[in-house]
Amino acid sequence: MNPLAARTAAIPPLDLTGKGGFASLGPAFFTALQPTPLPQPHWIGVSTDVADLLALDAGWMASDEALQVFTGNARLPGSTPLASVYSGHQFGVWAGQLGDGRAILLGETPGGLEVQLKGSGRTPYSRMGDGRAVLRSSIREFLCSEAMHALGVPTSRALCVTGSPAPVRREEIESAAVVTRVAQSFVRFGHFEHFAARGQVNELRLLADYVIDRYYPACRSTEQPGGNAYAALLQAVSERTATLMAHWQAVGFCHGVMNTDNMSILGLTIDYGPFQFLDAFVPGHVCNHSDTQGRYAYNRQPNVAYWNLFCLAQALLPLIGDEEQAQAALVSYKTVFSDDFMARMRAKLGLTAQRAGDAELIDHILLLLAKNGVDYTIFWRRLSHAVAQNDFEPVRDLFADRAGWDQWLLSYSELLALTDKAVAAHLMLSSNPKFVLRNHLGEQAILAAKQGDFSELHTLQRLLQHPFDEHPGHDAWADFPPDWASSIEISCSS
Ligand code: AMP
Ligand code: MG
Repeated sequence: MNPLAARTAAIPPLDLTGKGGFASLGPAFFTALQPTPLPQPHWIGVSTDVADLLALDAGWMASDEALQVFTGNARLPGSTPLASVYSGHQFGVWAGQLGDGRAILLGETPGGLEVQLKGSGRTPYSRMGDGRAVLRSSIREFLCSEAMHALGVPTSRALCVTGSPAPVRREEIESAAVVTRVAQSFVRFGHFEHFAARGQVNELRLLADYVIDRYYPACRSTEQPGGNAYAALLQAVSERTATLMAHWQAVGFCHGVMNTDNMSILGLTIDYGPFQFLDAFVPGHVCNHSDTQGRYAYNRQPNVAYWNLFCLAQALLPLIGDEEQAQAALVSYKTVFSDDFMARMRAKLGLTAQRAGDAELIDHILLLLAKNGVDYTIFWRRLSHAVAQNDFEPVRDLFADRAGWDQWLLSYSELLALTDKAVAAHLMLSSNPKFVLRNHLGEQAILAAKQGDFSELHTLQRLLQHPFDEHPGHDAWADFPPDWASSIEISCSS
């Protein structure tokens, strides 16, 4: 045998032998187990960007071996799969132990990326669940992860989705799918809450030290007399979460299930369930049909994240040691959120500098958008083109209250006049996406996929991977939602 071929064959196609990752925390944090196989798997979607990130060979990625690996049917050499345990507050109520009920961490690359299967079978944390995920929700998670990344929003990534004809019982019988997710870490606020609630302070400290050492090393530099690395960690997580909320609010994203077990310790968007991008700008919009109280309405997200940070603070208290320090660590949340949100909104308006009157201008346009029920994404994109072409009529057409719009435009024009027009237009066209994953677009891709036709999914994926490009010939994907879009009900069922 050619010695070079022998050496190539020995290199695992996906190297998950990274050391010092989550598995190094020890058995108190997880259960080691293998995914449960699914019959007759097939490919549904692949993100070549994520494949490149993982340095995966394109030939291997197209192979049957890869298909089996990412459906949980074959093992990767060196991988030691596990399901982690966590707890959390769900809809404001302590839910006790949860854990990876249908996710299995395959391992970590030497570069520090965790690779996880979702929908890969039961674990000791499945409770009453079947450990599976259905095709529709898996397609939504896959598309949205990659869409959010392309929008510049911190998020877990998705390498691929595979499907199987295996039946999965939800409201009706559906078919199974597995999403392969990738992130630096899938540690959640709920992991800390779990050990705090049980009084397991040693494990709590192990976990906090692990997170600090790997992801927040700067927190150690506060370990001078009077310094407190755990309070510094809380503050750093709080500020990343504030930034994440600014991203979500600016792009019009509703997460739908902001339970503490769905909050990433790295400030990433994780656990895509009943999420939605706003169509019309309705600040109180509730995207999760199961959220009858509207706890996770769009305009409540920044406050809910803050509430969740208090849960994290409570969990870290035994390590921080002092309630005042814990509270002090959360003080910067509000200013980080509002500074970041305002910066994003200024960019959406093409304003390159902070100037007197811009806050009022932003408040005022959001009020007008709400009052007129204007489509959020279309408004910003049209405004970007209006600035580029100096023709505001197409934007004016979006408002029933023309006088209100005219008045706003007058104040906007004054501020805009202080910025170079070409610079403003460029900033706007790269801040205001043409394409977002609206519910009805996801629904169309899902309906076709259920019939075995993945072309719509692939077209949508291509558009969402470059959401700021024009993509001539694809205006239909950037149009207003059809009437039937409002009847789509997305719930926690997935
Ligand atoms: P979620 O709010 O969807 O992120 O899920 C909350 C908890 O329920 C997590 O611990 C999940 O792992 C678990 N879970 C959700 N669906 C299932 C399922 N079909 N089988 C097992 N566990 C599940
Ligand atoms: Mg979850």
